[in-house]
This record gives sequence, C-alpha cells and structure tokens, in this order.
Amino acid sequence: MAQGVGFICLRCGYRGREGPRCPRCGFPLIVEPGRFKVIKTRPNIWRYEPAIGVPQGVTLGEGLTPLKRVGDVLVKDEGRNPTGSYADRGSAVVASAYSEGEAAVAFEPDFALSLGAYLSAKRVRTKVYVDPEYVDYAELLELLRLRLVSVEFGPPRGATLQYGDPYFLAGVKTIAYEIYERVPRADAVVVPVGKGLLALAVYEGFRELEEWGLMPAPKIILAKHRGAPAAGDVVEWLSGRAAVEEVEAEEAVRAVAELAGGGIYAKPLSAMAYAAARGIPNAVAVITGTGLRKIKPRIYPSVGGLRQEVLEALRGGRAMAAAQIWEALGRRYSLRGIYKALAALEASGAVSHKYVMAGGRRVKVFFLKE
Ligand SMILES: [Zn+2]
Repeated sequence: MAQGVGFICLRCGYRGREGPRCPRCGFPLIVEPGRFKVIKTRPNIWRYEPAIGVPQGVTLGEGLTPLKRVGDVLVKDEGRNPTGSYADRGSAVVASAYSEGEAAVAFEPDFALSLGAYLSAKRVRTKVYVDPEYVDYAELLELLRLRLVSVEFGPPRGATLQYGDPYFLAGVKTIAYEIYERVPRADAVVVPVGKGLLALAVYEGFRELEEWGLMPAPKIILAKHRGAPAAGDVVEWLSGRAAVEEVEAEEAVRAVAELAGGGIYAKPLSAMAYAAARGIPNAVAVITGTGLRKIKPRIYPSVGGLRQEVLEALRGGRAMAAAQIWEALGRRYSLRGIYKALAALEASGAVSHKYVMAGGRRVKVFFLKE
C-alpha cells in the first residue's frame, strides 16, 4: 500500500499509520485529506488528487457523474461510472495505492467487479472468493471476463481487501466534492444505507469541505428499508450526525419506475435515496448504481495502454494535433494507432477536436473535455 499516508479515526480521534481499521476502536479509518484544489483538465475523480491524498495510479474515467432533475429531486447518477456503480471511485484509489502483484477480495455486489476491473487495469492479479449462495450471476459473468481476475468458490483464505478500506473511502468521498462543484448550496444529500460506509465517506467529504470553509455541510439523510435491522457501528455512529428516513419496499419499487421515466435505471436499494428525497427542498439524491449494467468495452481486456497515454499527453491542457501526440509519446506507436485511440476517446466523450490555423494550414487538434 502507499507509503507515508496517515489515517484518522472519526470516532475516537486516533491519528497514525496503522490500518485498515482503527487500532484503538475498530472503526473504519479515513485517509488524512490533503488540500482542496481542482485540476479542471481531468475528467475523473483525479481532478481532486491533492485532496484525495493518494497519487493517481490508474483511472478508467470514474466520477464526474451527471446530475439530473427527476420530479423535484436532483439525482446524481452513479450508475454512469465505468463498471456501473459508485464503487469505481473507491476502486480507482485502492488500485492506485496498491503496489503488490497480487490481491484477494471477497465477493460483494458492485464492489468485487469494480475492484477486479481496476486492479486488472493496474496489472494486479486478483482472486475473487465467491460464496455460491450469495452471488449475483450477471456480475460473476462480468468478473470472469476480466483478464487478470480468477474466481474461487468458498470462503476467503488469507487477507482480503475490505469494502471499508480507507483508500476506498478516500475515493468515494469525491461524490461530496462533485456535489459541491455543481450544487454548492445543496441543503440535503440523501444516500441509501446498508453498512453505512458510502454514507460515512460522503459525510467525510462534506466535513472536509466545511472545515476548508468552502460550504456549510448539507444535512445527510440515510435512506433505509423500513424494518431493516440497524446495521452495525458505522450506521450507529452516523445516526447521531445524520437523519434516517425509512422507505417502504413498495415505495422503492415505484421510485425505480419513476427514475426509469427520467432515463435512470436504478436498483431498488439505490432508488430508496430518490424515494426519501422527494418533497425535501433543495435535495440531491445519490443513486449508487445501475440495475442495467452496460460496461464500456474499453474495460476489457486491457485498459491503460495507448489510450491512457494519449489522455496523459493531453492532460497538459494544450490542444494537440495527432502528429504532436505521436511525437510526445516518443513515436513508440504508429500514427494510425494514435488516430484510432483518439477516435475511441472521442466516442467515449473524454476528448473532442477543433480546427485551428497553423502555418497557413487548417489543422485538426484534439483536447480533453471538461
Ligand atoms: Zn478509533
């Protein structure tokens, strides 16, 4: 894992380098935040790299998800992340911090697929332990498509990367930063709650923004199924700092239908946030993942590579002709390959082009889209 990164415990105030859980009280730890500075040329969570506190090691284009109005609610559609859920934000940071050649993870919906895709992109061999009684088969099939992921049935043997990993939470908190950039006066943010780790990360993001004097922290509302049991120490700790809104199963399913009318295809668990946000003035509902996963083909089998290098070359902010990019990459690829990568990046919305006059000629130049 990354060297020199400090952790803090929100519950007991511990500060130190031991993790992934608080050595004093067992609570999930937070990576000590850096400073808030937005690198606007980056169309992904790494625009907040100084605040995340971990250097960028890998990106598949996670973050900067759209905000859309459905009824009276502003909906943040995390289903638009590369593998279809907010987990991609966390996985990008975990994989960036990961320096070993192998990793293991126990299957959790959204989490294992996301982490598998990112570790694979970082060239880390990943073993996913799957309990056949508790697996989403659509996700299992996606996992099996990943080149460096192997699936083993049965309980994990040895240490696994955990859903509450501090690096994971450091990526997820960027949801709060994005809401701040787009809706700096949001009064309430509604998130679905299971174990409460997503909510903890979003809470932390807003806590930091408030500490930096950028915005007063909005009210955090945890949407949970009516009658679902209280889920552990994180939810318990948060319930002193956030409101809990209970949603009937039927309401959640109705919310799925309403969101679908707005072009957002959510799972019932995600749709609860929307159901709970209705009628609350100036609220943002976080839809955590899609129920209709359409993974971009660029996730398989090899990400990074040329397209990643082209993005890096454009990251300086200067519009460049294909030949200039080719030069900048040391002529290691064919010019034709550069054109193909640019076409794919334009199709994915990361890159755009315009024409400029240079030396009396009209030249096509490419640039990163915000
Ligand atoms: Zn603690």
